[in-house]
Amino acid sequence: MISKIIASQKITEVEELLNKYDKIVIVTHVSPDGDAIGSSLGLYHYLNDLGNSVNVIVPNSFPDFLKWIPGAKDILEYERYPEFAQKLIAEAELIFCLDFNVPKRSYHLGPFIEAAKGKKVLIDHHPEPSDFCDVMISYPEISSTSELIFRLICRMGDFEVMSHESATAIYTGMMTDTGAFTYNSNSAEIYYIIGELLKKGINKDQIYSNVYHNYSEDRYRMLGFTLSEKMRIYPEYNTALIWLTNEEQKRYKVKKGDTEGFANLPLNIKGIIFSVFIREDNEMIKISFRSQKDFPSNKFAAQCYNGGGHLNASGGEFYGTMDEAIAIFEKALPEYADLLNKK
Ligand code: 5GP
Ligand code: MN
Repeated sequence: MISKIIASQKITEVEELLNKYDKIVIVTHVSPDGDAIGSSLGLYHYLNDLGNSVNVIVPNSFPDFLKWIPGAKDILEYERYPEFAQKLIAEAELIFCLDFNVPKRSYHLGPFIEAAKGKKVLIDHHPEPSDFCDVMISYPEISSTSELIFRLICRMGDFEVMSHESATAIYTGMMTDTGAFTYNSNSAEIYYIIGELLKKGINKDQIYSNVYHNYSEDRYRMLGFTLSEKMRIYPEYNTALIWLTNEEQKRYKVKKGDTEGFANLPLNIKGIIFSVFIREDNEMIKISFRSQKDFPSNKFAAQCYNGGGHLNASGGEFYGTMDEAIAIFEKALPEYADLLNKK
């Protein structure tokens, strides 16, 4: 048995909404990752199998290494079909907001979600959610939104209903948000849940391979270039920085998702507990932070780039030049010297 993390009152509220409504939209955050797509499709299959009319809408495209997940072909990209997406959101009786904590994290979709008349349910694990949904299922101590979807389905008494497709999507999200169970994954219940998913016939080894053995040669060569030419170590702060310009990414024909995982790699270096990846993304600059132990990367992201996220994985955005973005980072670093040198 797993413990009852989600409050019973919230389970009842979701059950009541599902009894009443069947025109459902599922939305998630911009540049969807494995947990965003995994939780959305896990819930999508479950609700579809119950006979609802369900649409998954994402703000923009997602990486090829997630496109094999059952149901991924049915996902609607707002940037490709904005009017159709707006219509579906406006007409939905029920909207599930997955894996984000504030409307602006769903970019273009944010204003339409806020304006929508349908009832809204948040299911998420990011700290400090804003109160924009009728039912707020927010548990930052849980390592993935996909795990929350599993818990929700089970608590509604529907483990039997969960399909192989739904289980596969849920496992994918649990796996990707924990770096294949290498961080944020010390809870015994995660492994109990994996056992239950295996009973649904998921092929966990194949799922790992589908996600992590799926990169292009260009992506790998760009990774080599980044680690050899574009990495700066700050030994006095146990910190590493990597950065890539638009021009450098173009040289390696970068595609959506090709830089996924880069931010984690400097943490492999002995002693490094804080890793920062600054990447030009067309007209803006995207910053990704990763940390170890209790270093609050999300506090750094909030202070320097108006961002946020989890303690050990966070991010932000910046509008300006690469040199300015790096200067902001280097200026703030000494303020964190004590935390970075904590034994
Ligand atoms: P990534 O580095 O993989 O893009 O993002 C890691 C985590 O940081 C995300 O799961 C999300 O919680 C957070 N994050 C990334 N970018 C932003 C941002 O611009 N604003 C906020 N508030 N959080 C972000
Ligand atoms: Mn997540």
